[in-house]
Amino acid sequence: MSIYWNERTRRLSPYVPGEQPKNMKLSGRKLIKLNTNENPYPPSPRVIEAIQKAAVETLKLYPDPACTEPREAAAARYGLKTGQVFAGNGSDEILAFAFAAFFGNASGEDAILFPDITYSFYPVYSGLWDTPYKTIPLREDFSIDTGPYLEKSGGIIFPNPNAPTGMLLSLEEIRKIAKAAEQNKRVFVLDEAYIAFADGDAASAISLINEFPNLLVVRTLSKEASLAGLRAGFALGSGELIEGLCRIRDSFNSYTLDRLALAGAAAALNDSSYYEQINRRIIATRRRLSLDLEALGFRVLPSQANFIFASPPPECGKGGMDFYTALRERGILVRHFNKPRIAGFLRISIGTDDDTDILLEACKEILRGV
Ligand code: PMP
Repeated sequence: MSIYWNERTRRLSPYVPGEQPKNMKLSGRKLIKLNTNENPYPPSPRVIEAIQKAAVETLKLYPDPACTEPREAAAARYGLKTGQVFAGNGSDEILAFAFAAFFGNASGEDAILFPDITYSFYPVYSGLWDTPYKTIPLREDFSIDTGPYLEKSGGIIFPNPNAPTGMLLSLEEIRKIAKAAEQNKRVFVLDEAYIAFADGDAASAISLINEFPNLLVVRTLSKEASLAGLRAGFALGSGELIEGLCRIRDSFNSYTLDRLALAGAAAALNDSSYYEQINRRIIATRRRLSLDLEALGFRVLPSQANFIFASPPPECGKGGMDFYTALRERGILVRHFNKPRIAGFLRISIGTDDDTDILLEACKEILRGV
């Protein structure tokens, strides 16, 4: 605490991102980084080309504050109008803007709803913007219990697939929640950070946007387009929701995406065939890893994301934290959350097939007590 901090700053409990080691060695070995759900494959060569071109030609000029190029690319890709797309500096920024634009900002207002086990940035944004919230426990099997989201509330936010469980809610359930929220005139923010890794093409709620003016679908290029380092995300929704986000952004920072990010994001959105190919590989690796870990006695939740959430077999005598440490000693970095209900689990990002072979060998060694 500092005497220079105002009341708001004192009250905050900021988000702590997953570790980004400075060098790519861990415990003396080449690091296998499976802790922050990055895509293990490189971005499209067209993205690199577009960024290089933008760097050479235009950096002395301010970027386009309306982010027209990637918004047009997203609109064309998803069959929407440009006015139904917002672009931001990573989806985290868009989520922060959505809290500021659509959810209550004083005690006494209706609480927004999100699951007890979910993306841990949501309570942080609630703290920043003074948004009252209520958490809804996941069911025993870690699926989202949809009933409570149909009740009156101050709004709704959750990821689909959920994080860190990786479990997907069907589009039918999403539609029911959107409809109930629309009847209450509240916004439903659906965080689709990982939807590109779901089996089948029909999982995204972008198809519901023209039906529900209260539905905001938030996407990121960090994972599905291998661009976590570029910081680009977008949101899709009715013109009135997009305008609400613009009002917040333009009261805060007019240039949230720099020229390199604008060029790279547009190029990524225009190269879906490259990304479909690498993301199909990730889905196949996820299937193999899930089956192989289950064969070793792990409990693996059914994931539709680019990570799995798994707990080691109880008879091995190692809890989530012990297993995390044992993997770390072998140069493999995964994520452990020391929280009620999930402390026995590890969240493991899907890497390349080689990463997966090494991970599985390490798990076998740890289980043998080597
Ligand atoms: N939503 C969820 C559920 C996430 O796990 C993440 C990644 N930490 C984000 C949003 C933010 O992604 P980014 O800011 O990189 O777009």
